Amino acid sequence: MKYSLNFLNQWIVCAEQQFKAHLAELNALDAAIGDGDHGSNLARGFTKVVEKLQADKPATPAALLKLVGMTLISSVGGASGPLYGTFFLEAAKVAGDQLQLDDAGLALCLQAGLAGIQRLGKAEPGDKTMVDALSPAVSVLNKQVGLEMAAQKAREGRDATIPMIAHKGRASYLGERAIGHADPGATSASLLFDCLAKP
Ligand code: ADP
Ligand code: MG
Ligand code: MG
Repeated sequence: MKYSLNFLNQWIVCAEQQFKAHLAELNALDAAIGDGDHGSNLARGFTKVVEKLQADKPATPAALLKLVGMTLISSVGGASGPLYGTFFLEAAKVAGDQLQLDDAGLALCLQAGLAGIQRLGKAEPGDKTMVDALSPAVSVLNKQVGLEMAAQKAREGRDATIPMIAHKGRASYLGERAIGHADPGATSASLLFDCLAKP
């Protein structure tokens, strides 16, 4: 498949809608093991992102991804703003001057995005963060099995955070009290992949 500017635009608009629809759920997950603002952070950030996309109308995938990343970094105060921001900025660098991405190109972009998140946040799979959903999803993308399989892997990764103790972020202060709750960032990451599969 080819991923056009229009496809990427729809992906981001879908993410904005999903984060708004799941705002209360994401805040509740974050209230259980953090400070209760993850849904509000992402809804605010992606609302700003969609406003900017409509105003600036970026002309290439790289320009779109860069605008998303810059806007998230400047408009989301929490840990997730710089982390998701870096994801999109690093993906933008790999997109280069391509006018549309093919399957391998999309996989490389998202792989670079994940590497950026891990460079910044130093989280590994198993630390109960967004990386637990993103990592299995991005790995399977490299095998060209389709976006629905990647979304499925992200959902499994999200669910796998439930029994984990957190080693990064606010939830790491809770020790064993974090057990039994899905990580909010892993949950938002799985929504992002749901949108990639069905924008
Ligand atoms: P804050 O914790 O600053 O309020 P958010 O609530 O928006 O920020 O985001 C919390 C989410 O960020 C967590 O659920 C986790 O998935 C993710 N996160 C926090 N720290 C890290 C990190 N070092 N690496 C990867 N993800 C992280
Ligand atoms: Mg929070
Ligand atoms: Mg916060």
